[in-house]
Amino acid sequence: MAKTIENLLSEERRFPPPTAFARAAIAQPGIFERADADYLRFWEAEAERLQWRERWRQVLDDSKAPFYRWFTGGKLNVTESCLDRHLATAGDRVAYYWEGEPGDKRTLTYRELHAEVCRLANALKSLGVRKGNTVAIYMGMVPELPIALLACARIGAPHSVVFGGFSAESLGERIRDAGAVAVITADGAWRRGRVVPLKESVDEALANAPTVRHAIVLRRAGNEIRMRAGRDHWYHEIVPKAAASCAPEPMDAEDLLFILYTSGSAGKPKGIAHTTGGYLTQVAATHRYVFDIKPEDRFWCTADCGWVTGHSYVVYGPLANGATSLIYEGTPDFPDKDRWWKLIADYRVTILYTAPTAIRTFMKWGDDYPRRRDLSSLRLLGSVGEPINPEAWMWYHATIGGGRCPIVDTWWQTETGAILISPLPGITTAKPGSATRPLPGIAADVVDEHGRSVPLGGGGYLVIRRPWPAMLRTIHGAPERYLDVYWRRFPGLYFPGDGCKRDLDGYYWLLGRVDDVMLVSGHNISTTEVESALVAHPAVAEAAVVGRADPITGQAIAAFVVLKAAVAGDDALITALRDHVARKIGAVAKPASIVFTEDLPKTRSGKIMRRLLRDISEERKLGDVTTLANADIVETIRGRAAHSPPSE
Ligand code: ATP
Ligand code: MG
Repeated sequence: MAKTIENLLSEERRFPPPTAFARAAIAQPGIFERADADYLRFWEAEAERLQWRERWRQVLDDSKAPFYRWFTGGKLNVTESCLDRHLATAGDRVAYYWEGEPGDKRTLTYRELHAEVCRLANALKSLGVRKGNTVAIYMGMVPELPIALLACARIGAPHSVVFGGFSAESLGERIRDAGAVAVITADGAWRRGRVVPLKESVDEALANAPTVRHAIVLRRAGNEIRMRAGRDHWYHEIVPKAAASCAPEPMDAEDLLFILYTSGSAGKPKGIAHTTGGYLTQVAATHRYVFDIKPEDRFWCTADCGWVTGHSYVVYGPLANGATSLIYEGTPDFPDKDRWWKLIADYRVTILYTAPTAIRTFMKWGDDYPRRRDLSSLRLLGSVGEPINPEAWMWYHATIGGGRCPIVDTWWQTETGAILISPLPGITTAKPGSATRPLPGIAADVVDEHGRSVPLGGGGYLVIRRPWPAMLRTIHGAPERYLDVYWRRFPGLYFPGDGCKRDLDGYYWLLGRVDDVMLVSGHNISTTEVESALVAHPAVAEAAVVGRADPITGQAIAAFVVLKAAVAGDDALITALRDHVARKIGAVAKPASIVFTEDLPKTRSGKIMRRLLRDISEERKLGDVTTLANADIVETIRGRAAHSPPSE
């Protein structure tokens, strides 16, 4: 590992905070020491910014660790912090600008959002949904999606959002696992000019989900659907007539707020359980200081509410801070590949928070699309979901950010609930490809296989040393699995499953899943480093590498490469790319084979699924593919891999 880290650092570029951020939400570095000196007091002060019905008796109860409990004895309803308390001071402020894929528009002020949430909450109640009943939500990105989350929270019914791109089978499995009593859905959703028939999938899922008594169906796409009498109710028939006020259910700080299944890039999804007080405390705090949010900002987190990023940074964080957000329903290439840039120009978006997969796709499409539009309103950019390759970082910074916007590369997981490692735009000097440092109040570390801290300059396993308020509380219905997956590898430490290096400045460089790390001729080589080296070549838009069993080297590196538009892949390019990686990292990291492909297998949240590429490379039967977004590409790649001789 030592060799490759030198290499990363030799390319080190630094981006200090621009002067425009001198008055950012956090501009004094002393916050790190203050938070470390008394981290419980630090989080308590953040909790005090929310609206509570009853104050907590204890900040952290660790008597049943690692089943930690935060703000015990405290009572609150998250919707009071997200909605009610803004009405007096900012009721007419826009909470959401929304644009549908066909171009239809809606604006919801805090006052309007509050009323809509109360109406749906009352409608749920009228169907007999009670505090503690789980409600599944399966919709596209329409305003009614955040409204549905909030309506559930209003009445104390935990929500379980299932991304609208999942199949009936995946939906059914999640509904059964969560034991949902109701489903909130829509007839369909617009996606790339076509209708995704959501209700059809719900019907199929419910055929085998006996706990569900009711479905509320929003009319969105106008496609023909069947309504089952007694079970199915049109949203427009029951919601508008319901009262626009609904008393918030007082919840315990540790009551379940939601279950959310992980994206499944490494295996079968886990039902991650999040509770009320600690979660809201930390998503509000991180949203405020990582994004330096101001009342006049227009914040656009492009994640779907089907993912944790949508929960924390489309719904709960921004609303707790009284922020104004943009929501867009459709795909970035409809009607053309400049749709996002047009949205930014039209709504004067100031902060864009998106994923590396999107950034690499835009790089592949070329600079002409963003150049067509006025992006001068942007002042801050964010990234989440995978390591961002330094080359993609540079492109994002220059082409989208006009060289003036800091980038916050935020590391976190469904399990962590909120961002844990990230730059603070007012004080952190960024290095492209590094998530920089743990946020105030977070104690991260890098350890070896025995759990011993690795000195700066070395690599190993990322761990978190102290509990944090938004942490998962368990895996729904599987507390043993919770202990096994996260706490037993290194007793007393939380193990996220990611590899990481730290440079001599203490910056964290996330290296991908430890399960994906390759062992070639006795050297540990991270997928992220080889992929970043490939992406740094001018012909390459995106790359995935995996280690496949090799009789001589232990593992050999198999690379799958997506080329930029208008570049042709031939043998000369394969040789050039192999030499390029050898130059960047060392001969040991040279891919043994390179296969060109138009696309990579990804989860529905856009993450590369390396385990499937490993299966292909080793000619195995494919593992769990239910979370795969683009199933056909696997067959295409499989065909090509079989016909491409090793480049050696
Ligand atoms: P599963 O756990 O089911 O395999 P998943 O881990 O892909 O699914 P998520 O919780 O959505 O599901 O993803 C969290 C993971 O994404 C992290 O553990 C990390 O590997 C990766 N990740 C997220 N943000 C970053 C980032 N900024 N830099 C590097 N990696 C990141
Ligand atoms: Mg995970």
